[in-house]
Amino acid sequence: MADGTSPDLTRVERGLTYPQPALPEAGQAIEVADGVLWLRFALPMALDHINVFAIADGQGWVIVDTGLFTDPSREAWETALAGALKNLPISRVVVTHMHPDHMGGAGWLCARSGAPLLMSRLEYLSAQFYITEDAAPASAEAEVFYRAAGWSEDEITRWKTRRGRFSKTVSALPAQFIRLKDGDELTIGGRVWSVVTGEGHSPEHVCLWRKDDGVFIAGDQILPKISSNIGVWDTEPEANPLDEWLRSLEDLKAMLPDDLLILPSHGEPFYGVTSRLEALLRGHEVGLKRLERSLKQPCRAVDVFGALFARSIGPEVLGMATAESLAHLNYLEARGRVVRERDSDGVDWWKIVEEAQ
Ligand SMILES: [Zn+2]
Repeated sequence: MADGTSPDLTRVERGLTYPQPALPEAGQAIEVADGVLWLRFALPMALDHINVFAIADGQGWVIVDTGLFTDPSREAWETALAGALKNLPISRVVVTHMHPDHMGGAGWLCARSGAPLLMSRLEYLSAQFYITEDAAPASAEAEVFYRAAGWSEDEITRWKTRRGRFSKTVSALPAQFIRLKDGDELTIGGRVWSVVTGEGHSPEHVCLWRKDDGVFIAGDQILPKISSNIGVWDTEPEANPLDEWLRSLEDLKAMLPDDLLILPSHGEPFYGVTSRLEALLRGHEVGLKRLERSLKQPCRAVDVFGALFARSIGPEVLGMATAESLAHLNYLEARGRVVRERDSDGVDWWKIVEEAQ
């Protein structure tokens, strides 16, 4: 912020204010709030980075999220532990949710440091489930699920041969964890952080809120530029995560004051949480309207990508796009807006329910 001697490098974009003039370089940490360091780890995908936060905890660091369990990630950790974080040991490892970019390095980091793992119960148990499930051959039920969504035999074969990617980028979790749940208060460095959980992107996603100075570690629950993936996957084909997600966003909008500094997992720290939550809600509303319009003719899940995504969908994101389309279709189905019919080839065709004139 401007103090009369240095220029104010705050940026405002699309109603959000970004107070940090620069990103942390590899191995570097920037103090973004009192006692909270921001580190940025590279990811080998379109979403090319994840933010990791280190909170001063008296004689240690509480780490929030860990990056993938890959060679470059481990090297980045070694650099940070020998550099920005070198004066103190890791006292606790908090994981916001079980996606590999957040949780991948957690088991390894806990083993290396002797620090305990803190997660919500559903995230820990889901993680253990997916690590096992992903390493096993594809189930017949999963194949039925993707065929119903409209995948070709080639796409199903490709998906089968690419299994194992989740378990490969995640280190084995510690055999024990400390449970975090909504409303818990965690004391870190003598200051209280409240646990706030959300649903929809993952089953029991943890955010941390330091109310005394308005700092909110948001994980993937509130991102500044992209919207988080909301997906229906083969293990729970009737799930309605979009309903959970929209409710969580509404709850956060009602609960959070607008002057919080939001520390997201992807993108940069920002102010303007209320308008960001409104934009995220509006984005889904617009997507659902476009989807309804495109379902005047019967469609498969793979036929509605154009209504939901601005980008074209290549094979590398087919799984995510299918899961996201099904999340929107299941949501409309639960509201009685669309119906589906399975044809003799096992493919589901979705159609809008015409309102009686
Ligand atoms: Zn995530």
